Amino acid sequence: MDHRYDIARRAAAGGGGSGNSSPALGAQSRRRKVPPRPADFKLQIIIIGARGVGKTSLMERFTDDTFCESCKSTVGVDFKIKTVELRGKKIRLQIWDTAGQERFNSITSAYYRGAKGIVIVYDITKQETFEDLAKWMKMIDKYASEEAELLLVGNKLDCESDRVISKQQGERFASRISGMRFCESSAKDNFNVDEIFLKLVDDIISKVNLFKFISNKIVIIQPD
Ligand code: GDP
Ligand code: MG
Repeated sequence: MDHRYDIARRAAAGGGGSGNSSPALGAQSRRRKVPPRPADFKLQIIIIGARGVGKTSLMERFTDDTFCESCKSTVGVDFKIKTVELRGKKIRLQIWDTAGQERFNSITSAYYRGAKGIVIVYDITKQETFEDLAKWMKMIDKYASEEAELLLVGNKLDCESDRVISKQQGERFASRISGMRFCESSAKDNFNVDEIFLKLVDDIISKVNLFKFISNKIVIIQPD
């Protein structure tokens, strides 16, 4: 099935762009602006996986459309927000990055709690990041909601010549876990990045048959 995703890029804060240098006129035009329609949903997505697989890069490619070849791990950045429109709904995504904590194995229940979607990333050029998946699955079993949608991602697809994990291995791993989807991506080449997040969100919202929006949370009413 081929969905058309309409991505509403988050308006850059400040920026202006009107060429208006008068503070008074600026204020006036600001007053005239129609306030943006509030989001219909707010969803939390978390990204887990071994250090260096490209979690931060995937998040930044998706939220800011940037890629940094030689960036140091982003200790201190907790999450980024991006609003997307899908199936006529405006969805505010809060995407949590592990911010370097994966090294210390100190990512705990707080990180998993409330996540409606979990992206588990490995690096197709690094065997040990694939072997690490068992550890991440244990964390999911222990801390995440059973309803959380899972997506396995083999990243760094642009490094095909250094590949050590075949696509079939990734597919096989995902097929053993109920409901887990799989795809390969490149944060560097911007391949399959929007798809990762939008597919996950689409899966989350299509699972909700009947919902109420109460205090910014989706309350799932179980079908009979
Ligand atoms: P994290 O530790 O999982 O957050 O990984 P980072 O996002 O910090 O990325 C680790 C390194 O891999 C950085 O040098 C990135 O530039 C690089 N990287 C991330 N994604 C890709 C990708 O898709 N292709 C390539 N070639 N390098 C990538
Ligand atoms: Mg990182």
